[in-house]
Parts: sequence; structure tokens; C-alpha cells
Amino acid sequence: MRTLVLDQGYLPVNVVSWQRAMSYIARDRAAVLEEYDALVHAGVQMPAVVRLSRPVARHPQRVKFSRANVLARDRWRCQYCGQRFRGDELTYDHVVPRSQGGRTTWENIVMACVDCNRRKGSRTPAQAEMKLLRPPARPSWVPRYNPRLQPREVPVEWRDYWTVELEP
Ligand SMILES: [Zn+2]
Repeated sequence: MRTLVLDQGYLPVNVVSWQRAMSYIARDRAAVLEEYDALVHAGVQMPAVVRLSRPVARHPQRVKFSRANVLARDRWRCQYCGQRFRGDELTYDHVVPRSQGGRTTWENIVMACVDCNRRKGSRTPAQAEMKLLRPPARPSWVPRYNPRLQPREVPVEWRDYWTVELEP
């Protein structure tokens, strides 16, 4: 069993053995987000996903516009209601609608749930009286770690945090 390690922004930075993840947790270097059903010993489950307690070093890089990267930037949250969803439950929303000249760019695309997308329709947030969690922007960095696992190798417990298409 392996453990997915996330940075403070919930992006994958590493995959380690569950034993190593347990040592991070024991030293307060990480906190558990998801657990496997398997027990380490009575009352303690194996960590599936952990989040580091301290920031990790970044390397600046141009981030490609892609669905996976927009999902990662928006942290799998609908940018209107703020709820977390699975990736396949979120859709692109053009903040300024295409019918009003809005383009498909980092600065004009956010992830939205089906309900919010329908409610907003072909209107700007102001016209729809809806508020964005934060203004969309191009991310200035991506994690150093580029996981190369096949989708079938990814445990279900990682699903909400895994971004298999994330650019290196
Ligand atoms: Zn929503």
C-alpha cells in the first residue's frame, strides 16, 4: 500500500510507502486526509492520502491550460457555491460568457457544478448576482512531482486528489 502526499495546496508532491507516511504523521510533518480500510494495528488505519504541514519548494514554470490543471487550480471546488465535487461532476464555466465575447483562458474559465452553471446561464456573475470564490488567474507554479501511474493503479481513496494529467 502506498500513500499519496499532498502539499498545503492539496496538490500531489510524492507517493511514499505507508510506513514512511506513518513516520511523517508521528513527527507532525503531515496530517491524514484519507485512510485505507486496512489496519496498521488495532484502531489505526493505513494512511491513503496525507497533507504536508509545511510548504514545499516551488519551481516557477509556465502552466499549460488543461482541464486537469484548472481542476487542480480550483481545488475541485465549484467556484460559485464552494462545494467540492469529483472532477467529472464539474464543468467549465466561462465567467464572461462566450456570447458576450468571453474566451477560454485561465483568466476566464472556472470550474462550476451543474446547478451553478445552469443558474448562471449566459450571464456574467454580476448579471446573475453570483459571487466567485476568487478571480481566476493563471497559476504561477506546478508541483515538482509528476506522477506516472496508470489510472487503474490509482487507489479509489486518492480519487479526489489525484491529477494524472498534471503537467511536469
Ligand atoms: Zn456550485
